[in-house]
Amino acid sequence: MFENLTGRLGEVFDRLKRRGALTEADVTAALREVRIALLEADVALPVVKDFISAVRERAVGQEVLRGINPAQMVIKIVHDHLTDMLGGDAVEVDLNAPAPVAIMMVGLQGSGKTTTSAKLARRFRLRDKKRVLLASLDVYRPAAQQQLEVLAKQAEVGSLPIVFGEKPVAIAERAMKIAAREGYDVVILDTAGRLHIDDVLMDEVAAVKSKARPHETILVADAMTGQDAVTIAKTFQDRVGLTGIALTRVDGDARGGAALAMRSVTGKPIKLLGQGEKLDQLETFHPERIASRILG
Ligand code: GDP
Repeated sequence: MFENLTGRLGEVFDRLKRRGALTEADVTAALREVRIALLEADVALPVVKDFISAVRERAVGQEVLRGINPAQMVIKIVHDHLTDMLGGDAVEVDLNAPAPVAIMMVGLQGSGKTTTSAKLARRFRLRDKKRVLLASLDVYRPAAQQQLEVLAKQAEVGSLPIVFGEKPVAIAERAMKIAAREGYDVVILDTAGRLHIDDVLMDEVAAVKSKARPHETILVADAMTGQDAVTIAKTFQDRVGLTGIALTRVDGDARGGAALAMRSVTGKPIKLLGQGEKLDQLETFHPERIASRILG
């Protein structure tokens, strides 16, 4: 992810550095190219506009242009605003609530929900020393519940025994009850996805949410789907309410627009990055590190 964007921005800033003294016109020209690079990375236009005008306001100030190293100062301003756009400080998935803490995973089919649920369970077990129960609420896709059971074994965490024919809300209730009785710290509820956003899906997710009262509701979104991922996130935020986002397939050649625009469009932080199919390929999203990576 971000290879093209990094390459493009690198060229813009190299040109800026070679100029030495800068005029307002130089900065404006550079920002025009930054704008094009962001649009090509599939960042939504309103997000790009806000970003460019915020950077511009600070970067054409006299203290920048008359400074000793104006190009470096402009680059630093871009870096700082990029970090802000990505959410500022890293935000972890929060387990700070009375046990069993419910974490609900939502998203479209194929986004990586089941894989991310198992990755997260493994991380809670290893890093946070938590007892974790995984429960699949996907009663539609054949073998979805068995898939989660297999992943739970790999992650060495518990999985809710499957009761065929049970409805999602009832599964969530049973998971919470069993978790309380058997002393689990965390329950991860892997909800069903659909191929597209639809009302039935949203109603079901909302019904599970009101019953299980999850401490976190995490949208799993595929970075490869670019602006679609952002639209999906906005819809889930409006209809269900989210506390965070897990962006998957960042190991692929996604242009990065989803990562860049998610926070501004939804108001919710990206908390996790899925970087492969294996269960240990999950990372906390660090806005500052990502901004540094983008700027090379
Ligand atoms: P779900 O339908 O949302 O539950 O999606 P799955 O968890 O079943 O994932 C769909 C496919 O994407 C599987 O083949 C996963 O191995 C793969 N996958 C999930 N997350 C990632 C990721 O971060 N990177 C890559 N490369 N593949 C992933």
